[in-house]
Amino acid sequence: MTTAAPYAFWLAGRQATGTDSFEVTSPWDGALVGRVSVPDEAQVEAAVAAAAAAQAEFSATPAHVRAAALDHVSQRLAERADEIARLITAENGKPLKWSRGEVGRAVSVFRWAAEEARRFNSGEAQRLDTDPGGVGRLALTRRFGRGPVLGIAPFNFPLNLVAHKVAPALAVGVPIILKPAPATPLSALLLGEILAETEGLPAGAWSILTVPNDRMPALVEDPRLPVISFTGSDTVGHAIADSVPRKHVTLELGGNAAAVVLADWSSDADLDWAANRIATFANYQGGQSCISVQRVIADAAVYDALAERVVAAVRAQVTGDPGDEATDVGPLVSESAAVRVGQWVDDAVAKGAKLLAGGTRDGAGYAPTVLADLPPDAVLATEEVFGPVLSLHRVNGAAEAFAAVNDSRFGLQAGVFTHDLQLAFRAHRDLEVGGVVIGDAPSYRADQMPYGGVKDSGSGREGVKYAMEDYTYERVLVLTGL
Ligand code: NAD
Repeated sequence: MTTAAPYAFWLAGRQATGTDSFEVTSPWDGALVGRVSVPDEAQVEAAVAAAAAAQAEFSATPAHVRAAALDHVSQRLAERADEIARLITAENGKPLKWSRGEVGRAVSVFRWAAEEARRFNSGEAQRLDTDPGGVGRLALTRRFGRGPVLGIAPFNFPLNLVAHKVAPALAVGVPIILKPAPATPLSALLLGEILAETEGLPAGAWSILTVPNDRMPALVEDPRLPVISFTGSDTVGHAIADSVPRKHVTLELGGNAAAVVLADWSSDADLDWAANRIATFANYQGGQSCISVQRVIADAAVYDALAERVVAAVRAQVTGDPGDEATDVGPLVSESAAVRVGQWVDDAVAKGAKLLAGGTRDGAGYAPTVLADLPPDAVLATEEVFGPVLSLHRVNGAAEAFAAVNDSRFGLQAGVFTHDLQLAFRAHRDLEVGGVVIGDAPSYRADQMPYGGVKDSGSGREGVKYAMEDYTYERVLVLTGL
């Protein structure tokens, strides 16, 4: 890690620097992690022009070349895993064990993308002679790129959510301009080093631009970037989508995910497992995951036994230096984020919530916190906390539990602890979310499965194959006279 020369950004596959720069500091101790160069307007223009110019060449690149490139990236990420994990921890404050997990996931995202690139776009043939007008005709379908993608990534998974935008684009041969989060751009810029040494990617196929937020509207509105893949807060995401109603915009936004524990999940082993998973995934990365457990909705039959275990498991979370291998919960991304979380907890307590654990702040660190009896007018009852705070809710029966999950403007994922197959299918049918996880917290995500939300949690799906579909569209070829 250097703190001397600014990190360069990547313009059409090559390193470049501008005249301005900004600092990236550790949320843990405030140390300077790196200084990052900012592209000027001419450099942004050059990257967009290069992406547009590369479209035809890149889409003509054979699948085996793109797949080999993606395999190479996957392999190099694996080889540099320790270095990258430490960089994520330094810039983000994420405990090292979770940073290692994130790198491992990015390794598989690129490997999946390589595999999907090999089988993508075989297309299908449709007979049209099912109607008299179709006799002698045949339809063939293939997918083609919509055009260069603008990928905008959040701070909380600074490598893997970048991988989820870049790998599918390279897999289908559409150029991408990636904009990392200002708090955590360094791991994305390191990924650029690996992309730059990778054969088979034309100049212009990718850029990684550290553009300041106030200059993003020009990029968002640029007609040469017809696809926007955004992951971040619902406020920013919806503002972007509203500003470009004719663009193809995918929104992966926030949530206040629920873990439901039903009456049949009642043995000691069941409750220990649920409590441990809930405590872990309410607090991992300081609760800064879009599918962190924020609400625990438990049947009255198990509520007391579960609550006791959840409080104990939350108290057992090891907080501290994210660089320490034993740490479960590090700091939040900034002190201001921790102050905001504290204000929301104080608001809930002032309105009548019971504080069962935590509720204290130390700099950017916020103690893992459990609340009960959360009043409906507390900010925490409706908004995404994005911090290590969960609330316990008592319900009677599955129908009431599912209604409580749906009583939210968000709908990303839900976890349901039940052994009952019928209730599992009912949860799948009735919950207004993008994914239902049975027997675990809502925070489970495998990178190849479709992932995304409904309601204010967004629209469109990521997951390698699904993002590849998102970046392309189906074009039909009708043959006549057969
Ligand atoms: P954010 O919305 O503040 O920023 C996200 C990205 O948008 C950053 O790169 C930021 O620089 C950029 N941005 C900010 N203003 C912009 C503008 N006017 N135009 C264009 N880009 C702009 O979000 P964040 O704080 O980085 O991330 C946390 C949020 O992300 C949470 O709400 C979380 O739930 C959500 N998230 C969602 C998913 C998902 O897959 N659904 C995954 C991770 C995080």
